[in-house]
Amino acid sequence: MRLYNIVDSKVLKEALLSETFIRKTISFYRYFIIDNPQQFRDQVYQDWVDLNCFGRIYIAREGINAQMSVPEANYEAFLETLSKYPIFDKIPVKFAIEDNGKSFYKLTIKVRPKLVADGLDDDAFDVTNVGRHLSAEEFHHLVESGEHILVDMRNHYESEIGHFKGAICPETDTFRDEINLVTEMLADQKDRKVLLYCTGGIRCEKASAYLKHHGFADVNQLHGGILEYARQLKQLNLEPNFIGKNFVFDERLGESVNGQIISHCHQCGKLCDTHANCDNELCHLLFIQCPECAEKYEKCCSVECRDVKNASVSEKELFRIKNKRKFGNSRHYRKSFLLAKKE
Ligand SMILES: [Zn+2]
Ligand SMILES: [Zn+2]
Repeated sequence: MRLYNIVDSKVLKEALLSETFIRKTISFYRYFIIDNPQQFRDQVYQDWVDLNCFGRIYIAREGINAQMSVPEANYEAFLETLSKYPIFDKIPVKFAIEDNGKSFYKLTIKVRPKLVADGLDDDAFDVTNVGRHLSAEEFHHLVESGEHILVDMRNHYESEIGHFKGAICPETDTFRDEINLVTEMLADQKDRKVLLYCTGGIRCEKASAYLKHHGFADVNQLHGGILEYARQLKQLNLEPNFIGKNFVFDERLGESVNGQIISHCHQCGKLCDTHANCDNELCHLLFIQCPECAEKYEKCCSVECRDVKNASVSEKELFRIKNKRKFGNSRHYRKSFLLAKKE
């Protein structure tokens, strides 16, 4: 039995690039009580590793959230593995729209205390009392009417490169901050119709239950999130009300929904929607960088980081000790690097 991957990442990435067959990139999630998450994890790991599936999957007592790539030839067999477990009964599986099949290079399944690190006290409100699920088409027409409060439930770096027209996009780094801020911001508008959306729909499950608990009367959410919206609008041949790119957490870091670029390179300010992680391992900041700046700064977010990246091991150590600046995916850190959104 092989329950964990032990092969080096570089080897795996090269293996992925040399594959000659097609992979489908899919995602699915469900809130469902799992009595023994570790045991369930080991079972599905075995099922899926046998079918050469890759992906990033989280399992918690409250359910599963999966982003995967499945070899096309094994897709039917993959669906059969799903039919073995009640949690997957009639689960909607979403397909990525811009799919080169190279989104994952290994299978990672982690057991976590929660599906989304939301920092909310689940015992304080009924997490199953969620908002109304709207289909992509319903949501599309409601957004078009422009009469409702439309809220982007994702983090600032996600909405920066793409969002629905007219949406409120809170400047927050975490889901917890976001949900608290939204509840506060809309405190005097609890009677209005609220429309929520996120990447794949999972964050809205929690967010809608939370808002309802706080007295919001008419809470609605985009079922399947932007991923499903993009896919269905294409099928329906409708012009999306989502502008720019949908940020996704895999090697692609985003897929374009309507082909427009709405964000800017954080270093030179030109139109750009490509995220990069700073190549200085001490920094790793997530920011937007154009190809020219990537070359100029050697894939780093600043001259400083470029210098650290090129320093010797002992110099790096010195930097680590001396450095007072904190690093991470926060907009505060971005500002400390003089990287800012162009308003
Ligand atoms: Zn640039
Ligand atoms: Zn950096």
